[in-house]
Amino acid sequence: MTRIIDGNAIASDIEADVQASVETLRDAGVQPGLATVLMSDDGASETYVSMKQQACDDLGIDGRHHEIDADAPADDLFDRIDDLNADESVHGILVQMPVPDHVEKRAVLERIDPEKDVDGFHPENVGRLVAGNARYKPCTPHGVQKILAAEGIETEGKEAVVVGRSDIVGKPMANLFIQYGDGGNATTTVCHSRTDDLAAKTREADILVAAAGVPEMIDGEMVKEGATVIDVGINRVDADTEKGYELVGDVDFESAKAKAGAITPVPGGVGPLTIAMLLYNTVKAASRQSGVGVDLA
Ligand code: NDP
Repeated sequence: MTRIIDGNAIASDIEADVQASVETLRDAGVQPGLATVLMSDDGASETYVSMKQQACDDLGIDGRHHEIDADAPADDLFDRIDDLNADESVHGILVQMPVPDHVEKRAVLERIDPEKDVDGFHPENVGRLVAGNARYKPCTPHGVQKILAAEGIETEGKEAVVVGRSDIVGKPMANLFIQYGDGGNATTTVCHSRTDDLAAKTREADILVAAAGVPEMIDGEMVKEGATVIDVGINRVDADTEKGYELVGDVDFESAKAKAGAITPVPGGVGPLTIAMLLYNTVKAASRQSGVGVDLA
C-alpha cells in the first residue's frame, strides 16, 4: 500500500514545538517578530504572504506586514530593509519573491542582515549551509527533511534525485542531502532542464524530489517501485472551478502513486511545511538575537 504523506499533520507537530518556544521567549520578555515585505501586485505572492502572516498570528509571533508599491524606486525597498535591520523588535525579515524587474534580486538578498535572514538566502547563510554549519536552513528543503524524518524514511546511503536547481529549492535540497549526519549522507543527483534522459535518472531514485515548476511532468513511468516521491511543485492550471484554476504538483499523482512507497499530495504535502519552517527559523532568530535558549529539534 502506498503511504500518502500528510504534510498538514507533520507541520502541526512542528508548529506545536514552535509555539512552546514562543512561550519560552515571551516568559523571558522576548516577543518574536517577523516582518514580511511585499513589492508586487502578483496575486499568488499576496496569498503566500497573507498565509505567512496568518500563521504568525496563530502561534503568537508578532507578524508585521510591509507593502511597497511595485512601481516605486528600488531604494524604497532598500531603505525599508535598512529600517527593519535596525529594529530590535524584528527578528526575521522576509522579502517575498519575485521582486519587480527594476529591483536587483541579489542586492535585496544581500541587504538583509544575515542574522535576520530567516529564508536563508543571504550568501553568508548559503555559504554556511554548504559548509555544513547552517544558521537558517531554507524553509522548503528543510521542510522536506522534516517530512522524511517524521515518516522514518532514511536518507543515508540512499539514491536521492532532485529535479530542479533553483536557489530556493533544488540547490539547497541537494546540499542538505549531501551533508554529514541525520537527513543527509544520500548519494545525490541534481537534474534540470538540460539533463539528458531525465527518466533514466529519476528511475534510480529511492527518494525523488520534484521541484521543476512544470505541472505533472513526473509520471509513474519515471518512478522506481517503492520510491519516496516528494512533490514540491505548486502550479496553477486552468480548471472549471470557482477561481478558474486548480493547484497541481510537478508529479502526476495517480500514476506515481501506483509505483511509489510513499508520496506527498498537492496541496497538503510540502506546502504546510514551508510555512512551519519559516516560523521555526523566526523563533530560532529571536532566540539567537536575545540569547534566550529554546528547545527546537
Ligand atoms: P524555478 O523556476 O526557479 O526552478 C525550476 C527548476 O526546474 C530549474 O532548475 C529548471 O531548470 C528545472 N526545470 C524546469 N523544467 C524542467 C524540465 N522539463 N526538466 C527538468 N528540469 C526542469 O522554480 P522553484 O525552484 O522556485 O520552484 C519549483 C516549484 O516548486 C514551483 O512549482 C514552485 O511553485 C514550487 N514551490 C513550492 C514551494 C512549497 O512550499 N511547496 C516553495 C517554493 C516553490 P534550469 O535551471 O535548467 O532552468
